[in-house]
Amino acid sequence: MMEVAGPMPLSDTSTRALPSLHEFFAPGGVLARSPLPYEYRPGQLEMAKAVERALAERRHLIVEAGTGTGKTLAYLLPALRTGQRVIISTGTKALQDQLYFRDIPFLESLLGELRVCYMKGRANYLCRHKLVTLRNQPILSGLEEIDQYRQIAEWEQTTETGDRAELSGLPESSALWSKLDARSDACLGSTCPDYRRCFITEMRRKALESDIIIVNHHLFFADLSVRREASGAPDAGILPEAAAVVFDEAHELEEVASSYFGLSVSNIRFEELARDTDTMLRGKEGAGNLPGVTQQLRERARLFFSGLPMSGDGRQPFTGREEFLENAGDLYLGVTGTLRRLEAEIDNLKNIDEAPGLRKRVTRLRSELEFLLESNATNTVYWLERRVYGGAEKGTAATRGGFRSQVRTTFLQATPIDVSELLAELVFETIPTVVLTSATLTVQGGFEHMRRRLGLREARELVVPSHFRYGEQALLYLPPEMPDPRDPDFPEAAARCIQRVLEITRGRAFCLFTSYSQMRDLYERLLPVLDFPILLHGNAPARRCSMSSAPRRTRFSSELPASGRALTCRAKRSVASSSIACLSRCPTTRLSRRA
Ligand code: SF4
Repeated sequence: MMEVAGPMPLSDTSTRALPSLHEFFAPGGVLARSPLPYEYRPGQLEMAKAVERALAERRHLIVEAGTGTGKTLAYLLPALRTGQRVIISTGTKALQDQLYFRDIPFLESLLGELRVCYMKGRANYLCRHKLVTLRNQPILSGLEEIDQYRQIAEWEQTTETGDRAELSGLPESSALWSKLDARSDACLGSTCPDYRRCFITEMRRKALESDIIIVNHHLFFADLSVRREASGAPDAGILPEAAAVVFDEAHELEEVASSYFGLSVSNIRFEELARDTDTMLRGKEGAGNLPGVTQQLRERARLFFSGLPMSGDGRQPFTGREEFLENAGDLYLGVTGTLRRLEAEIDNLKNIDEAPGLRKRVTRLRSELEFLLESNATNTVYWLERRVYGGAEKGTAATRGGFRSQVRTTFLQATPIDVSELLAELVFETIPTVVLTSATLTVQGGFEHMRRRLGLREARELVVPSHFRYGEQALLYLPPEMPDPRDPDFPEAAARCIQRVLEITRGRAFCLFTSYSQMRDLYERLLPVLDFPILLHGNAPARRCSMSSAPRRTRFSSELPASGRALTCRAKRSVASSSIACLSRCPTTRLSRRA
């Protein structure tokens, strides 16, 4: 829980004279004199005033700000002017990057140096202790992992952040990285021999010295749930106290919160637990029986997950839990029994730093599995999901392009149906000011639906209409006669349609998809027939890619910023309309005539 004992101390930034909102945003003001192509936006100033007022009055605010409002500056400047620590949380890493690598440097060029910290989820950072452990007992599979290990070990000597985004050659899907990341599951905390030089410790220290902390919703809620589990223990979580939180892309808040207030157990989690137990306890005194137990855990988990009543990939409700236990209870008892045996074996170990953390992890996995199979909790939906990761079978063009072969992951999940009470208690009743903003928050012209779903009882409200004139500046194209998306002919028809539109717009497009497999399928189809460079989401760390430096590129993605002529077309595979929609600003007339 984010405890706020009172106003945060004044910072250097606040004691420096920052311009008033009017001096900054109004015509002829600081923004108008900046090198940015300037256009006065009354909605931006209106939003900034509303944010400043909410911060001053310690009240919540919900703002729907249409596209083109310039909302990031409209909350950043008031946040800086408070002189108190403010957390900004975004729905996507892309917006997080935009804030830190574009908006903040821009503000610094106008206002001077700012104390801002950028935090990602722990899995983005290297765990130095795991690297040391792996160095002493190298267990690497294949030449690819050996290469990646060398690259990571060399980089670790020089990096100041431990953020994997700096590793330009490491694919996003690297299996080795998942053995070395700093996720909390395997963290030893203050008992770690590498604690003082740990990248997470350093990130926490930097956050404490910052006025603005930029995170994403996943990190925010992961941190909140760690604090909740630890009943507010002072060293739990990595986010420091803050006087306010601004949730940008707040329309994603409910879904992200639900996933962190729920439970999820997967076959990969069992694999990782067995792997980490082997790696951390190998050769330690008294650990002789463990390899046999972890091997049994792998086998029993495999049997259990393959016995779950699933029909193909995708999501499905798990309504027949009792029936499953009646028919395949032995598979379930086999797994939980082995987890208990592992707990007992770890209990027998003496003076091993890693043992208490591993013990906790085994117990948590067992109790979560028991909840998922046996609980009768109301306000909870139980479901199964099977996802394919890795993109392509060996030997295809995709693997030659650097993908791993496909891995199927099965999840067993419990998600709360309604998170409003939890959000009210943990967020809105705890943090003095919460600002929710997005381009789409109202339903039927009001915030009632969103407020009810989120448990936001008291808040000021504001709607800022879009700055753009869509009727004059945009073209919406719905291709006629597209097959149903479930039809086997759909991908080919979609590829033909996207190819045609991209030839007209000369690339400069985002193609957005609702699934990775579909994105990769269309990428494979279009790669040989398009003349433009194509960037594929997931093939490189997002920070290294920039639409502005590659103005004629086409990007296959689900989340990225671009502006001006770099982005002319957005092709979207929409579940809601079961069609492809292309939005183009230029050259509008030609597209409509030729399409
Ligand atoms: S404190 Fe945790 S994350 Fe940091 S190096 Fe040690 S084990 Fe890794």
